[in-house]
Amino acid sequence: MASPAGATARPNVYSFKVVLLGEGAVGKTSVVLSYVEGKFNEKHTTTLQASFLTKKLSLGGRRVSLAIWDTAGQERFHALGPIYYRDSNGACLVYDVTDEDSFQKVKNWVKELRKMLGSEICLVICGNKVDLAKERVVDLSTALAYADSVGAKHFETSAKTGVGIEEVFLFLSQQMVRVKDSKEGAVGTGSLRRRQNVVVVEQPEPEPAKRACCG
Ligand code: GDP
Ligand code: MG
Repeated sequence: MASPAGATARPNVYSFKVVLLGEGAVGKTSVVLSYVEGKFNEKHTTTLQASFLTKKLSLGGRRVSLAIWDTAGQERFHALGPIYYRDSNGACLVYDVTDEDSFQKVKNWVKELRKMLGSEICLVICGNKVDLAKERVVDLSTALAYADSVGAKHFETSAKTGVGIEEVFLFLSQQMVRVKDSKEGAVGTGSLRRRQNVVVVEQPEPEPAKRACCG
């Protein structure tokens, strides 16, 4: 969107799309419902009928509106395509700390998102079901090291107890605002300047693994 010459005003309202990704039964739907509605259901929460739920929050006087997209269970049939995550500002990649395979699936999603959407998408990784501490098989230090290597922030969450849930979406919102501001020409993380209506974004050579967005 064009802005008047020299204007650096930041928008006051930010609308972001966030997608939930991860293997079936890791707790994606539970995480969204815990965050948006403060509810938890022991039974498998079948599909949300709506494609997304919205949540509004305020960040230092700026209003953020999140459209949080949950899958309709297509991941169970390996049928989640780019149409689901395109135009996303952020993604929450969920695994179950009691299921090693679900952690490996997160790695596949990270690869796919980076390939399709590049470094502009903010990523958080949630190790969910930390209330099941005795059954845990995915080591925290391994998960942290992995997240760090791909420029994502790792959170331990439990949709059941609510641990970590607010923090995930707060962090993601802050990152998405930062990315958006840096694109709009406000002070951001990257070096950015204006030249005769042309915005020049100076970025270091992209590293294949680590990205600047959410580190
Ligand atoms: P999805 O397929 O990834 O959307 O997973 P669901 O949200 O449907 O959750 C699958 C199952 O895991 C359900 O029985 C949930 O009650 C359970 N579940 C989800 N999150 C947690 C959690 O943090 N702790 C525990 N103990 N169970 C959870
Ligand atoms: Mg679900």
